[in-house]
Amino acid sequence: MRITFLGAAGGVTGSMHLIETGRTRVLLDCGLFQGRRDEAWLRNSQPRLDARSVDAIVLSHAHIDHSGALPILYRQGFTGPVYMSRPTVPLTALLLADGAAIQARDNAQLKKRGRSAREPLYTESDAEGVAGHFVGQARGRWFPVTGGVSAQFHDAGHILGSSSVQLEIVEPDGGKVHLTFTGDYGRRGTPVLRDPEALPPADVVLTESTYGDRVHEHRPEDAVRPCEELCSAVRRAAGRGGKLLIPAFSVGRTQNLLWSLNEGMEKGLIPRVPVFVDSPLGIKATRIMEEHPGEFDAAALKRVRGSLALLKTDHVYYTETVEASKGINAYRGSAVILAGSGMCESGRVLHHLSHLLTEPEHIVAFSGFQAPYTLGRRLEDGQNPVFIFGDPVHVRAEVVRIRGLSAHADQLELLDALTPIKSAASHVFVVHGEPASSLAFGQLLRERGFKGVAVPHEGTSVTI
Ligand SMILES: [Zn+2]
Repeated sequence: MRITFLGAAGGVTGSMHLIETGRTRVLLDCGLFQGRRDEAWLRNSQPRLDARSVDAIVLSHAHIDHSGALPILYRQGFTGPVYMSRPTVPLTALLLADGAAIQARDNAQLKKRGRSAREPLYTESDAEGVAGHFVGQARGRWFPVTGGVSAQFHDAGHILGSSSVQLEIVEPDGGKVHLTFTGDYGRRGTPVLRDPEALPPADVVLTESTYGDRVHEHRPEDAVRPCEELCSAVRRAAGRGGKLLIPAFSVGRTQNLLWSLNEGMEKGLIPRVPVFVDSPLGIKATRIMEEHPGEFDAAALKRVRGSLALLKTDHVYYTETVEASKGINAYRGSAVILAGSGMCESGRVLHHLSHLLTEPEHIVAFSGFQAPYTLGRRLEDGQNPVFIFGDPVHVRAEVVRIRGLSAHADQLELLDALTPIKSAASHVFVVHGEPASSLAFGQLLRERGFKGVAVPHEGTSVTI
């Protein structure tokens, strides 16, 4: 068999690995490259392979850097099945449709202003078309993929539906290879979701390395408590009659924050102020999560079995319409606002920022990575003034970071997950990390006695 690393090799986005045997071609993941807009658009618009030659795709999870190129491949002629865990089906369909809508809107706005606009990478009908090829599979059970390749999903505990993928590849001559792909591997103690399952032993291992050179400050033992930095920010804002705005990714982070805020209120750690979920995508993703109790950990199951709402409690308000969103600004008391666009690049969060940043009683809290050149990064770096819709905004609000919410295992957690399968593996490929992170993790694995460790570049092919 041959593996070609077509994305998330020497970087974290664009996850895509091609598995070829004498009789079939299967893609593991089909992700979009993300980053600076023009550069990402260029990379995503170049075909990485002949889409018509791919027989099937196996998807680890819904995040766009793992699924976002599906409509592009469909547009280029891919017609096979796309296998994923059951909760990943509605979540991926939602994210792809949202991606199409955003591209169409950006394109129309640029054209209206008479600027040259990049053509959307795909349309809503491409997103819908490829979603018609999605096949949901239960975890922990083998299913046939195509031409001698079978797969099995194991809970990766990263976001709803996220899985590690186990492949059994039977070559035309009868030879068998087992492959384990970690996907994005989560952490123990993450709210709502079960902890990641053990990785199955395999001859060939593809491991992520997002935090391959770092150890999180908060250990899993801490993560089970509502995040202290979050509670402290709520108390400070409420104490001075202000609002706490948290720009948050719609899938995963928004739900984790809701869980922690609910817990904090129920345990009396923070005042019961209204929590507005001001992101149509975040609201839909929260509903999808609530529909999949099969993914819940013991605490979440106990809650729903006791007839308590999982995330939409009495003080949580979903603001679906633009009018409802504007209403939040008119609300005079203290409140927490979870708004979409984790890096403040677009959407409703911009309106909240332009209202709240100029007043000292409010707090803007970042809970995730802010990429260079984004408004989120500028705020986090203390830039003042910042520019929103082209106008200068003087920052008087408090800007803080909430740590300990990462959904990726750190270096030690990844090493712990891989160590039990060390003796079985003859090849370990370190993918899905910035170069420094992947190289450091590869080196650590070699030092710990792993065999055949390699950090492939994008485009590298390896025959096994
Ligand atoms: Zn992910």
